Amino acid sequence: ATPTAIMVGVGKGAENGILIKDAQSLELAHRIDAVVLDKTGTITEGKPTVTDTYWASDEPTFKSIALALESQSSHPLAASIVQTLKADGIKSVPILQFENVAGKGVKALFEGNEYVIGSVSWIAERGLSFTNLPINTWQESAKTVVVFANSTNVLAAWAITDPIKPTSAQAIADLQREGVEVYMLTGDNAFTAQKVAQEVGISHFKGHVLPADKAAFVEQLQHAGKIVAMVGDGINDSHALAQADVSIAMGKGSDIAMDVAKMTLISSDLQKIPQAIRLSKWTVAAIH
Ligand code: ADP
Ligand code: MG
Repeated sequence: ATPTAIMVGVGKGAENGILIKDAQSLELAHRIDAVVLDKTGTITEGKPTVTDTYWASDEPTFKSIALALESQSSHPLAASIVQTLKADGIKSVPILQFENVAGKGVKALFEGNEYVIGSVSWIAERGLSFTNLPINTWQESAKTVVVFANSTNVLAAWAITDPIKPTSAQAIADLQREGVEVYMLTGDNAFTAQKVAQEVGISHFKGHVLPADKAAFVEQLQHAGKIVAMVGDGINDSHALAQADVSIAMGKGSDIAMDVAKMTLISSDLQKIPQAIRLSKWTVAAIH
């Protein structure tokens, strides 16, 4: 391999908003068989907004506890909930033992009682019932549902939408046309996963995927002999990024994803992936 071709390739990448950390990724990208995409923040904007709110109780302290919990989370969904609560003039309260449960939600103690905010399935695991909640209606319209509960009751729920990036569908179609298999994995619920996958033309997708399972999925494809690229933006994608043959982070995502990944797309635009593959072809052709 000529170092000059690599240097030129890395330079061309940088000019086009594709930051490449190592020569190997650049040389390997044109051989990618499968691209695994995270949903939130990768296919979608990762800028969710709350569209509907349900409160089971008017107790103002609950609203303050919810704000306290989500203020300590770095998850994009948390930011949207913080925004609506603050817009309602809610003030935070001090909470203890805050904990981030990857792929599920957050929890903490307030006055000795545990409060949790997270996915419907996680709250359901805790044996709580969701009577009066329009969860199905919300999920069928591709919204992510987040639930707030204590150890005995569901206290609130929010329906959240996250728009699909305008170029995602085209980028996915370009990859598929080049013979690359495209998969979508998400920690989000199965309904929302299906809606988003359909809208961008992905037929292989999975919901309720925990961070460790994202990595296991990549490994499974590798065992089937495929060269796999993982594309993600979050802390929850870092295991899968580390496992992949080619790892690609969103520039607008978390620092951890960018630290782990060997390539970063500064604009977070998925059309940079087929572009990176073309750059790889060009570089390798210049080498040989
Ligand atoms: P994705 O794979 O789509 O990026 P995550 O694995 O980050 O999703 O999260 C999966 C699910 O866990 C979310 O859809 C949400 O229901 C729940 N969740 C995680 N963190 C939080 C949080 N801070 N607040 C509310 N819900 C959360
Ligand atoms: Mg994500």
